[in-house]
Amino acid sequence: MHSQDSSASSLISLGKRYWLPVYKPRELVLDHGKGSRVWDTDGRDYIDFGAGIAVNALGHQDPDLLAALTAQAHKLWHASNVFYTEPALRLAEELVHAAHFAERVFLCNSGAEANEAAIKLVRKWAAAQGRGPDKRVIVTFRGSFHGRTLATVTATAQPKYQEGYEPLPAGFRYLDFNDADALEKAFAGGDVAAVMLEPVQGEGGVVPAAAGFLKRVRELCDAHGALLVLDEIQCGMGRTGTLFAHAHDHVTPDIVTLAKALGCGMPIGAMLAGPKVAEVMQYGAHGTTFGGNPLAAAVARVALRKLASAEVLMNVERQSNDLRAGLLHINHELHLFDEIRGRGLMIGAVLAAAYKGRAGEILDHAAAHGLLVLQAGPDVLRFVPPLTIDDREMAEGLERLRAALGAFTAA
Ligand SMILES: *Cc1c(COP(=O)(O)O)cnc(C)c1O
Repeated sequence: MHSQDSSASSLISLGKRYWLPVYKPRELVLDHGKGSRVWDTDGRDYIDFGAGIAVNALGHQDPDLLAALTAQAHKLWHASNVFYTEPALRLAEELVHAAHFAERVFLCNSGAEANEAAIKLVRKWAAAQGRGPDKRVIVTFRGSFHGRTLATVTATAQPKYQEGYEPLPAGFRYLDFNDADALEKAFAGGDVAAVMLEPVQGEGGVVPAAAGFLKRVRELCDAHGALLVLDEIQCGMGRTGTLFAHAHDHVTPDIVTLAKALGCGMPIGAMLAGPKVAEVMQYGAHGTTFGGNPLAAAVARVALRKLASAEVLMNVERQSNDLRAGLLHINHELHLFDEIRGRGLMIGAVLAAAYKGRAGEILDHAAAHGLLVLQAGPDVLRFVPPLTIDDREMAEGLERLRAALGAFTAA
């Protein structure tokens, strides 16, 4: 018989025994959530400043998402793309209308898949231009994160994610983020087909593109016949205070990828294609069994409508100000951070030299004080709460953070 012991330690031992040990979760088992609060199996509550890595953008148990999911669950769960289903059709139309630059959408199941589709689309486009395989280079930037499949981990310009997976696919080149001069030089070789970047780097430490950088990248891409691919998997869907992060930079991309908050917890990704590339992939060129599945698409339609609303976007501004002010206030007392950076509700607190490498320890203290928060590398605390977090949850989260950081500095 299997053990029916449901204590947290007993459940965690199952993960340690049976999961491929690629994760190291905090030692607690989450059970349910409501708004920006979650509870573990022991009944302890946590303010959720991590939102399942910027996924639960409408918090937990949003009534409209729940209604969309249950209504669809009573109708049809899956059909595959050999048939049409209404949620995927309408979601595509709504994404194109929301995105302005986009003409067509490919629906898939994760961020990595959306970026994989983007990489393949760039290559097909370059091939259609008569460029040989050695003239299809995609430039990405150090500190980026684009996913874990073999191609997307190669696009991810961070060696720690690539080690041991060689041989990596060819055709990627890495530059320093925000270095437009280096990009100009890289174009001189005549082999660059696209530049791919996150308008705000997430995993790499919550690093926004410098003012004017995206505009410069767009100009260089235009001058050299290359595509601009924006990975908005983490920074999109309202996270920075506008539905798309690139709206801050006034650029028109050729391809944008979305996932994370697109389904607010349902697994879904999307690649949005602009006019230069919308007709490049034809019948049979790409596909996925689950892409656009009715459950995920029905939820994503509601997520898109709500995350694009003035109500949510104004809350992002307001709570962003409170979060920043709260972090500055705490820092005034404890002197833990060198810098508070980011945009909207995607905020990074960079640990000062004396505390470098200790973000993980701080996360343990936070959990012990009833707060879930993330790191972005060993030196940066990452705050990506639900975009619907309210004043009380924000204030309580900041209080718990203050207590946790106090315990950390006292330890
Ligand atoms: C999370 C993330 C991905 C990968 O998404 P998965 O759903 O984990 O495959 C890609 N790009 C960025 C910017 C991300 O934050």
